[in-house]
Order: sequence, then C-alpha cells, then structure tokens
Amino acid sequence: MESLHYNYVYGPVPSRRMGLSVGIEPIPADTCNYSCVYCQLGRTRHMTNERKPFFEVGEMLSELEMYLKDVKEYDVVTLVGDGEPTLFKGLGDLIRGIKKITDKPVAVITNGALLYEKSVRDDLMEAHLVLPSLDAYDEKSFKAVNRPYGTIRFDDVFDGLKEFSRQYKGQLWIEIMLVKGMNDSQYALEAFRGMLGQIKYEKVFINAPVRPPAESYVETPEDDVIEEFARGLKGYSINHLTESEFSSGIKDDFNAVLSIIGRHPMNQHEISSFIKSRGGDPEEVLGRLGADEKIDKLEYKGYVTYRMK
Ligand code: SF4
Repeated sequence: MESLHYNYVYGPVPSRRMGLSVGIEPIPADTCNYSCVYCQLGRTRHMTNERKPFFEVGEMLSELEMYLKDVKEYDVVTLVGDGEPTLFKGLGDLIRGIKKITDKPVAVITNGALLYEKSVRDDLMEAHLVLPSLDAYDEKSFKAVNRPYGTIRFDDVFDGLKEFSRQYKGQLWIEIMLVKGMNDSQYALEAFRGMLGQIKYEKVFINAPVRPPAESYVETPEDDVIEEFARGLKGYSINHLTESEFSSGIKDDFNAVLSIIGRHPMNQHEISSFIKSRGGDPEEVLGRLGADEKIDKLEYKGYVTYRMK
C-alpha cells in the first residue's frame, strides 16, 4: 500500500489504550481550542473554538473505505487530530458513516472542551468509545495546563462532561495528564477524586508527558506520584516510554517512518524496533532521518524524538 498521498487516514499505529488504531483526522493540522503546555505538537498555531465543516464527510469516508482494503489487522478506528477533532462540524455524520464501513469500534480522542455544547454531545453519542481529557480541577489549573481559548470556562467544560456522561451509552475513558508542580499535588488528587465521583465513566488513565512538550519547563512527575494518583483514583497508569507494534503497509522503510511521524512523533527506540521488526537496518534509517531538514529532532529525556516540521 502506498499511503503517502492519503489526506485523512493513517496507521494502524499502536495506541497505549486501545491496541492498533487506524486514525482519521477531520481537522487541519494544529487546529485546537487549547494550547496545552505538554502538547507534543508544540504550541497551537490555529487557535479557534468555532466548529467548521473543514472537509467533506463523503471524501473522508471514501478514503477510509479504500484504505481499509489494504489494512490486515486493526482494533479500532479513531477520530483524532493534530488538534481537537470535535471542532469538525459533521462529526456525527462522519461517525455514522464509519460505522457503515467497518464493524470495529469507533473512538474519539478529545480534550472534551466542547462537551458543553449540545451539538457536540449529540455527535459523540454516536461513537463506541469517547476518551476526554480532564487535566484541571479549577479555573486556575485549567488556564495553567490547558491554556484554553479565551471564552472557554472550566465550570462549563466540567458541567458538559458530567452531562455527557449521564446520557452516553458507550465507553467513557477519562485521561488525566499530570504535569509536575501544576496538577500533581495532594490537593489536586483530592479534587480529581471529588470530580470523578460526579461522572459516570468506565476507566480513568493517569498519564504523564513522555514526548517533547510545547513548553520546555514542563516536567514529568515522579513515578511514585503517578502511581499514587493511579491508586488513589482507581485508575491505570500509562507512564511507559515506548510503544511497540507500529506498522505500515508502505514497503520502503524510510517512507514508512515518514508516513508515521507525519502524524505521530516517534522516538529513536520506537523507530529502531519498528525497523527491526520489518527486517530493515535501523542505523541507516535513523541516519537519513537525522540528515533530513523536513524533520525536527528533539532531545528529551535522554533520547531523540523525530517529528515532521
Ligand atoms: S488539546 Fe491536545 S492537541 Fe490541543 S493543545 Fe492540548 S494536547 Fe495539543
């Protein structure tokens, strides 16, 4: 499969929570209503809170249908973005359309900001699995960690999440991203516990930044703090450094890596194990990546992460 020319669909990529995921991006790159300090995409370039029909639903569905013909194995189709997928007006139609193409579950990874809008809650009702973020426990921590679009208020977002959780029939998995010194105190732990008590959800994941963040001052909490949150909130800790099982139908090793890092940054260990699993030469590919000016090489946590500029 030569998939470099696909506009919306990519993968499968391993997801730490869901297995092998075929991704669809229904929004232009770097379009978000938050600019999280830990964002692995860097600072948000197109900050907006207006839902728009950025792309044609029919066009995305045709592309997905064609793409899936060549994908042998995957567990889930995930709506995700280089930004926030609920900003796409037409999300409900897109999810309904995907469900006609595949029997696999449809998931949406969202920051959850727009859950205060009924149209967004209605659209998300169509998904089998919704994974909203919940990184803040009050307006101050919200502004510090998520840096939302000016008119978005923490109370409205949390009320939207509570409302959605009461009506939603699918699986709701919450993710809390902990940032050292910003939302990882004992006070925060108690506040999160109180908030989770008001939501109907299936799982909560405790995460920490493992890829280069938007702001260099962002630090990962100590492992024991992450574990304490996981225990205290009866959640799962997903503080692992690498993800395995990246896969691509593209034959050429270098182009296969390019097609993945165009959507999903990979660190040197992930690239090595990916290339080895295909019987290729990791050193050769890493050398070419290192020399390519289209690729950002970011040092973080003692290893290099590769990301498209
Ligand atoms: S919500 Fe996601 S895409 Fe948007 S800034 Fe935060 S981490 Fe980045």
